[in-house]
Amino acid sequence: MKKLFSALLISVLFLATPLSVSAETVVYNPNSKIYHNTSCSSAAKCKVCKKIDKKQAIRNGARACKRCGG
Ligand SMILES: [Zn+2]
Repeated sequence: MKKLFSALLISVLFLATPLSVSAETVVYNPNSKIYHNTSCSSAAKCKVCKKIDKKQAIRNGARACKRCGG
């Protein structure tokens, strides 16, 4: 039983790895609710922005920046 559990745990970790690798970081502005690409010039000027996961930004109701596409 313990062996089966370990095997399950390993396969879960193995399946979860590609998701964390493909996670995209964006620069999110909580005031305007717009997220930017990390290389966007607007993001560089933005003082209230913070780097978060793109999925999390969308979950917060954020829209993609028109200039960089998010
Ligand atoms: Zn932008």
